[in-house]
Amino acid sequence: MDWQLGLRFKTQAAQWRYMTANTNPGSEMQGVAGLDADLANTLKLQEADVLRQQLETQLKHTPVELAGLDRRVAEEKAAIEEKRKALQHLEVQRKEIDSQLKAAEAQVRKFRTQQVEIRKNDEYQALTKQIETAETEIGAIETQELEQMMKIDEASAVLRLAETEHKRRMAELDGEIAHVRQREAQCKANLAAQTGAVETAAATVPPVWRRAYDTAKSRAKRAPFIVPVSDHRCGGCHLRVSNEVLEVARHGGKPVCCDSCGRIVYWQP
Ligand SMILES: [Zn+2]
Repeated sequence: MDWQLGLRFKTQAAQWRYMTANTNPGSEMQGVAGLDADLANTLKLQEADVLRQQLETQLKHTPVELAGLDRRVAEEKAAIEEKRKALQHLEVQRKEIDSQLKAAEAQVRKFRTQQVEIRKNDEYQALTKQIETAETEIGAIETQELEQMMKIDEASAVLRLAETEHKRRMAELDGEIAHVRQREAQCKANLAAQTGAVETAAATVPPVWRRAYDTAKSRAKRAPFIVPVSDHRCGGCHLRVSNEVLEVARHGGKPVCCDSCGRIVYWQP
């Protein structure tokens, strides 16, 4: 058994033993033994049934946990994808700068070729000026390209770190998902076993008590569904029970319910 779940399972069992023990003076076995046999069996049914309900609740929570983890995986992937795209964008920009540079260099080569064929001095001077302007532009583009390369280096370093961190977190999340799935499988197995235990316990309870237990469950909603009555008060809702209810509880032998919350109440001497 997964140790955490096992621990929880045992803790719940202990809590329930404690609650049952609390409703019966002394230890569980002595308390149950001292009670009406049908009531004692119904209390055992309750113990098994509540454990089963708790396992069902745990199992219902699993999809919520898994959905939360899936969401975190998606967020992780989106975050790293954004960083990869940012680097790609910088590289596209660098290619554009490089094209501008090549175009400017081609322009200068063209001017120089033209210059060789020119005879007129003023035309020659004009071309020299154009070449100078183009070369200044080339210098500016080269600076821009250098700056862009530095940005790319920086973004690459950031991305490398982020990729390492991303891998670590993804492994962590995968581990968490595997753990939740494993726990879910264990919980399903425990639930199947506990359902069997409820059936076994229910088989010992007479129909009249079983019906009373089911009614108490549907009315009270929250466990415990069988409580002692002490000092004229219901051990579940703590309100006063009627004299009739108190009398039946004191007499024993058949189930009786709290007038207010519907729980089965029994006399605690
Ligand atoms: Zn009550």
